[in-house]
Amino acid sequence: MKRISILGSTGSIGSNSLKVIDAYPERYKVVALGAGRNLDLLERQVERFRPRSVAMLEDDLAEELRRRLNKVSGPEVFSGTQGFIRLSQMEEVDTVISAMSGAAGLIPTFAAIQAGKNVALANKEVMVMAGPLVMAEARNRGVSVIPIDSEHSAILQSLQGHRREDVRRVILTASGGPLRGLPYEQMKYVTPEQALKHPNWNMGRKITIDSATLMNKGLETIEAKWLFDFGVDQISIVIHPQSIIHSMVEYKDGSIIAQLGIPDMLTPISYALSYPEHMETFLPPLRLEEIGTLSFSEPDFKKFRCLHLARVAAERGDSMPAVLNGANEVAVELFLRGKIGFLQIPELIEKTMNAHKPFAIDSIEMVQQADAWSRQTARTLV
Ligand code: MG
Repeated sequence: MKRISILGSTGSIGSNSLKVIDAYPERYKVVALGAGRNLDLLERQVERFRPRSVAMLEDDLAEELRRRLNKVSGPEVFSGTQGFIRLSQMEEVDTVISAMSGAAGLIPTFAAIQAGKNVALANKEVMVMAGPLVMAEARNRGVSVIPIDSEHSAILQSLQGHRREDVRRVILTASGGPLRGLPYEQMKYVTPEQALKHPNWNMGRKITIDSATLMNKGLETIEAKWLFDFGVDQISIVIHPQSIIHSMVEYKDGSIIAQLGIPDMLTPISYALSYPEHMETFLPPLRLEEIGTLSFSEPDFKKFRCLHLARVAAERGDSMPAVLNGANEVAVELFLRGKIGFLQIPELIEKTMNAHKPFAIDSIEMVQQADAWSRQTARTLV
């Protein structure tokens, strides 16, 4: 029986994780749930799953939840980053699903590893900002970090039963996002509504904008680099609009092992929870004969400059990936609020990166420092 804490339980990954857990009550138990702002959904989840502890990021929402759950058998309610750290480190918990959005997940996820918990990681920003620290800490504590991100789940699956030293490269697939076919000249007119319409995946707002700029694939490049210890030159990207092949591993003899499936996050979530087993998900089977054609093309690094910037940051290392990530979060937020145009997202990130003097990252505090510097700088450069 795995005893689970979910950080970000009301988001897309969190809700889908609860579906998997709900289907296997004899294998999984929810011990703790943490959410950002969705009070109503968290309340329903508490009633359904009866966790020991819950947390909300904001104090007043936590207070309101306490009032609503004011029953004798109600869970303990915590708030803020400290509250999420508690959920990460509870004695009864052995597995933490890290599914918060953005940099907010860094400290609670790192705290989980420090407390010796296995992590199922959906929050790629954690790996982008602090990959070397996170992986070193996981090795020291003897815990596993299993990716939920569909591409990295595909890579993990394609590595099974093969020798790591026989790998030539990995090939990350990208759907190309909602703006794939749009001419460059029209990209400056893209509205948040257009960018939020992803053709294949149903995800949160931040990651959907990252898919439209292809920054998501850039962040995934950095995530793959740290998670599997590849050089940036060993990570290729191919546009594959059908999102059926979730990624591939190429071996020295020319063999390519791919993982395929319908685009539904239930598959990578369930694999992360049952690794190395495969559990029944009750998803409809993939019918290649109905799909007919799988197509592939090269990504356009000029049109999707975020992809280029992420590779620059990945190669530079040190504090640069955290700076890339911080500036991206600020830019995406400004875009969603209508304050900057679509093409100003990469512009702002690039200006911030150009203003940065990279420094070595030896502690999680230094990651936070790079992140704070980046956000502040991006806000003044806008
Ligand atoms: Mg992904």
